[in-house]
Amino acid sequence: MLINNNKIGYRPTWAQIDLNNLEHNFLEIKKRLAPGTKILVTVKADAYGHGLIPVSKRLVACKVDFLGVASIDEGITLRKAGIKVPILILGLILKDDILPLFEYNLSTSVCDVGLSRALNKKAALKRKKLNVHIKVDTGMGRIGVSHYDAHKLVKNIHNLKHLRIEGLFTHFAFADLNREFTFHQIDLFNKLIRKLSKDNINIPLVHAANSIGLLDYKYSHFNMVRPGLIIYGLHPKEELKINLKPVLSLKTKVIFVKKVPAGSGISYGHDYITSRATKIATLPIGYGDGYPRNLSNKAPVLIRGKRFKICGRICMDQIMVDVGNAPVKVGDEVVLIGSQGKNKITVEELAELSNTIPYEIVCGLGSRIPRI
Ligand SMILES: *Cc1c(COP(=O)(O)O)cnc(C)c1O
Repeated sequence: MLINNNKIGYRPTWAQIDLNNLEHNFLEIKKRLAPGTKILVTVKADAYGHGLIPVSKRLVACKVDFLGVASIDEGITLRKAGIKVPILILGLILKDDILPLFEYNLSTSVCDVGLSRALNKKAALKRKKLNVHIKVDTGMGRIGVSHYDAHKLVKNIHNLKHLRIEGLFTHFAFADLNREFTFHQIDLFNKLIRKLSKDNINIPLVHAANSIGLLDYKYSHFNMVRPGLIIYGLHPKEELKINLKPVLSLKTKVIFVKKVPAGSGISYGHDYITSRATKIATLPIGYGDGYPRNLSNKAPVLIRGKRFKICGRICMDQIMVDVGNAPVKVGDEVVLIGSQGKNKITVEELAELSNTIPYEIVCGLGSRIPRI
């Protein structure tokens, strides 16, 4: 099957990625920043399920300053695709895995003396410098040097001649819920920066804000921000809606339609019994594609511009929909995420029904679904 000249294979199920909307979101977000503030976009986890390479290439065309990944492997994939902008590994690496940082020119995060010394030693052997960003834990409780010990660590790393401290950063634990705690985190981070500048240690890039930080905490911008979710047009919080356009749509086509009498059990366990004579449409997508199984009997889909509900348990490769007496036919396009006619289904809506966050919905979409 061909969509926009892209072959999607013989199963009519695909995710449509609108890179113009991605660009719109990037520019919309850039408008909200003070001039000169840099943007690192997080493209980890296959660009939140949107496709690492095409998304990153479009961001480079938009003049993104940095790309953020979770692992060396994601960084290598970007470099092999010809991407030249600076790349920061936001997670930690093991001492045995330092060499690719040189070959692929990747900046990495550090938060202790051990890894920093190992990096410095390898860099000295190669007569090169490595760029590091020091991660400070101001309350997230994940990776990061505790803010109590951060000043000492930065000074130590500053003395390692083959490391260049390119950045200093922290991450918010509660930006969506607890303003007081977030202000406390910003405060701790500011104290550290002031202390360092008294020692004449000036770090080029200082960053803290994820999507919520960027939208809701102006004082968290420093000189670089690190949005992910909002770049993909998804809102971290209902009250923080700005003019974003969703980038991903999830679509399939009706593969089978069958008339059934009242009292028919549908799918495993017969969790759904038809209350009247009706038609059941089957869709070629399932939890094997990362569509959450706990949306069984809950989630809507759009067919012919109208909303219908999934009925019965979601299977690995198939989903059933009770379409009543609507004139639904095999081959009709079905929207699981996105718009059709005047109706739309958002990632945020599915996340709420699935009792999770929008991040997990888009990241969960499997590699079996082609991104077009
Ligand atoms: C993923 C990530 C972000 C982006 O978070 P969003 O909520 O998607 O904006 C920012 N910083 C770090 C360290 C991350 O891991």
